[in-house]
Amino acid sequence: MRPIQMVDLKTQYQKIKPEIDKAVIDVLESSAFINGKPVQEFAIALATYLGVKHVIPCANGTDALQISMMALDLQPGDEVITPSFTYIATTEVVALLRLTPVFVEVDAKTFCMDIESLRKAITPKTKAIVPVHLYGQAANIEAILQVAKEHNLYVIEDNAQAIGCNYTFSDGTVKKTGTMGTVGCTSFFPSKNLGCYGDGGAICTNDDALAHKLRMIANHGQQRRYYHEIVGCNSRLDTIQAAVLNIKLKDLDNYIAARNKAADFYNTAFADHPKITTPYIAPYTNHVFHQYTLLLEGVDRNGLNEYLAGKNIPSMIYYPVPGHRQEMFAGIGVDSYHLPVTDWLTERVISLPIHTELDDEQLNYITSSLLEYINQ
Ligand SMILES: *Cc1c(COP(=O)(O)O)cnc(C)c1O
Repeated sequence: MRPIQMVDLKTQYQKIKPEIDKAVIDVLESSAFINGKPVQEFAIALATYLGVKHVIPCANGTDALQISMMALDLQPGDEVITPSFTYIATTEVVALLRLTPVFVEVDAKTFCMDIESLRKAITPKTKAIVPVHLYGQAANIEAILQVAKEHNLYVIEDNAQAIGCNYTFSDGTVKKTGTMGTVGCTSFFPSKNLGCYGDGGAICTNDDALAHKLRMIANHGQQRRYYHEIVGCNSRLDTIQAAVLNIKLKDLDNYIAARNKAADFYNTAFADHPKITTPYIAPYTNHVFHQYTLLLEGVDRNGLNEYLAGKNIPSMIYYPVPGHRQEMFAGIGVDSYHLPVTDWLTERVISLPIHTELDDEQLNYITSSLLEYINQ
């Protein structure tokens, strides 16, 4: 049996090696390492895939969020609503820009932003909502867009974990996550569903004027070289990474299908177990399984983690400390938050290996080992 990893990038690479190697060598030979042709080609290919007007490539997903908040002209003191149950990047950039993060609950079943909690968090200072399509399924974006419309707020989708996911509106319209809000932000970190071989990110929007501003901000606030109109930053997708992404984008739907196949195997093995809740998928979304996350009830989670590790099966807790309990926010009064669902989830979730290269032998070994521990 091949060794089991949370993400097996090596085996995936072996399958596309000739194409990747050629594309990377082509960049080396062109030596157009910055803003080479593959960067623009990738931006167009991704925009076509997602069905969005503009894709602005940048250096990573965290920058994508930061540049979006800068382009929307959010000012110190403006409140930005985000779930507490997410990766730190979502909220860190809010604080970095001296905006005020306002943490809300997630839904106990979908792990995505809870709409009632969102409504309650709105104040006259609220300027933006940052829903996270956590683990690979869409947040309830139709309801979030409705709230945003009622209160005239921006919606910044954190789509780092869900690229390729489809959201179905109540009128039957289907759209890709990251294309429905004011802007959508994504990451090409190697372990993401569309990962490059280093850091990378992108911002999506259908708004022409905003796209222009996003591009300027990612490029030192200039549209003409050496004439800097607004304060920006330096955030670029390397040509080598774009060349890799051009190849991997063609496989994204196959990658999603492979992840779903592994998830189906897990779901079948754990179905109806009294101590295990398998991932719930809301009716308005499909799941691209960036993570496969179980909820455990009455199980010693650390014990399970160690037992699996002893059998060379990695497992992870995403996330052990929610945003509102992070030390970095201690100074801004977030310890007064009462987010019981979030706290409950951080104590019960466990993520199993999920990637494009898991075979039945590995999956069978993982599921039987996990059940062995839980049923003992
Ligand atoms: C990975 C991730 C990011 C940040 O992406 P980087 O490319 O690592 O900066 C932001 N939000 C979420 C939810 C993520 O999972």
